[in-house]
Amino acid sequence: MIKYALVCDKGHDFESWFPNSDSFDAQVRRGFVECPSCQSKKVSKALMAPAVSTSRRKAAMRPPGPADAGEAAPGGAPAPAAGRQPVALLDERQRQAREMIRDLHEKLTENSTDVGDKFSDEARRMHDGDAPKRSIHGKATFAEAKALVEEGIPVLPLPSLPDEQN
Ligand SMILES: [Zn+2]
Repeated sequence: MIKYALVCDKGHDFESWFPNSDSFDAQVRRGFVECPSCQSKKVSKALMAPAVSTSRRKAAMRPPGPADAGEAAPGGAPAPAAGRQPVALLDERQRQAREMIRDLHEKLTENSTDVGDKFSDEARRMHDGDAPKRSIHGKATFAEAKALVEEGIPVLPLPSLPDEQN
């Protein structure tokens, strides 16, 4: 199989697979190759693209998104990249979500003292004036956090990182 970058007489670029270069010439002569944008059968080779670099070329030339999903493969040719995009998209979202949570962690904890399991005691001591007021973070059970809130001590649960949830 060989992949050709093609261009129609109206200047639309597209790509199609052929068993070999003779087959390309024959299929164009018979009008089997048509532009997916305007259905013109007057197509010619733009340049020859080796199959190995196709996905990179494609990624560089086209914005990712639904445009690729609707791409027709003329002549029943395989569309090698079809179906891979959503996976990449999910990975990217997960990565971004993780970074957002990590940033939030850093912002919330950068000027704050980690008091670990003593969080509840320390928060109460600060509230009662027994300890200097400062930003602290640590661990508290749900019951401890609820008790603090009921006593009028504002506590904020920190989101956990996705890979720390298990
Ligand atoms: Zn066209």
